[in-house]
Amino acid sequence: MNSEDLPVDLLSVDQALARITAAFQRLPSENIPLIDALGRVAAEDVIATAPVPAFANSSMDGFAVRAADVQSVPMRLPLVMDIPAGVSPPRALQPGEAARIMTGAPLPEGADAVVPVEDSDQHFGVSEGAALPPFVTLLQPTRAGAYVRPAGEDVQPGRIVIHAGEVLRPAMLGMLAAIGCGRVPVVRQPRVALMSTGDELVGPEEALRPGQIRDSNSFTLFGQIIELGGQPLRLPTVRDTLADARRLFGEAVALQPDLILSSAGVSVGAYDVVRTVLEEMGEMHLWRLNLRPGKPLTFGHLRGIPFFGLPGNPVSAMVTFEVLVRPALLRLAGRPDDALTVQAAAAHTMRSDGRRSYVRVTLRRQDGVLTASETGTQSSGALMSMVLADGLMILPEGVTSVAPGDVFPVRLLKPLKEEWL
Ligand code: AMP
Ligand code: MG
Repeated sequence: MNSEDLPVDLLSVDQALARITAAFQRLPSENIPLIDALGRVAAEDVIATAPVPAFANSSMDGFAVRAADVQSVPMRLPLVMDIPAGVSPPRALQPGEAARIMTGAPLPEGADAVVPVEDSDQHFGVSEGAALPPFVTLLQPTRAGAYVRPAGEDVQPGRIVIHAGEVLRPAMLGMLAAIGCGRVPVVRQPRVALMSTGDELVGPEEALRPGQIRDSNSFTLFGQIIELGGQPLRLPTVRDTLADARRLFGEAVALQPDLILSSAGVSVGAYDVVRTVLEEMGEMHLWRLNLRPGKPLTFGHLRGIPFFGLPGNPVSAMVTFEVLVRPALLRLAGRPDDALTVQAAAAHTMRSDGRRSYVRVTLRRQDGVLTASETGTQSSGALMSMVLADGLMILPEGVTSVAPGDVFPVRLLKPLKEEWL
């Protein structure tokens, strides 16, 4: 089966993605304290306005000199001042003079080199209050610029130190501090209202009565939202009644989130009341996607707020999130897509039904070849298949069987392991 022969009522993943991403744009920025900015997305280029370091300084504990004075050694010079870090030198250095200087302390005017203490007849202990010796004998010749860090060595004024759209890492926080940027313009985090629907759902610690199951989706989706830098806002479970659905979807809208996400209740079952309420409150499209797992998906707007109704089956909910909600959240967050994909060979025969399939696999290197094996049952209700999965092997539309050795891309779900490279 090729893509032209798709059943007419199945929307391709790519068509769905195009419609979804067109509905999202980057959120506005906010200025936040630097200490809270790790992992956030820079909203603007940040430009240094002053040089770093701001002044020429010593890179060693030693003696500031004029290099021309220390060409033949040993050379005995009078010590005319002491320059610890954090002070301004009391005066300029004259020809034939030396100053004791500590790492990071400003070079006095007139000096152009530092001779490390190791190359002198002295050693520095902690000698608080002790008088500066009158002379120093330098044992090695020097040259202009030795052990001096010039002003602007690290960053020149006008340089862009962080680019808009970059995710802030520890070194960047340090750099922002170094240029005196105590508040950072970052993209606001997407706020995502999250709700499960279904009469059968109970929480992880409630007793299970016959016929009930535990709500796992509101936990998996919670984690997925956080991993993308979003802020989940969990709402109570929506029961399969019109009144409850009206009340809780109303509450979700009242939170004014950037996105509303629900799972289950939107297919064509007799108790799928959620759909009725969604249609009352907004503009909804029920899509039957050419996607496995996760055929049914609702996308639309609830009182103007973008809404996804994900399938109820735990694996389908997670996979549709990865494939369709993730790109939307990345757009809202202004975040680059850092998902990694590797090529792997099927370790065994696999079957598909011609829909684009996301097969849960573990990866292993065998005789130099990266191979992918299914993580047990691929039922869309079997959440262990996601717990175990290193990644999702993507079988394109039209593929119905895979032979051992056939190579397909695998979207990683776990941090990259050396072995997979
Ligand atoms: P539905 O779309 O309501 O027909 O649900 C499809 C399947 O997913 C059913 O077997 C539900 O019991 C299951 N399901 C729905 N919601 C959840 C949830 N929050 N956690 C775990 N399983 C769920
Ligand atoms: Mg249901």
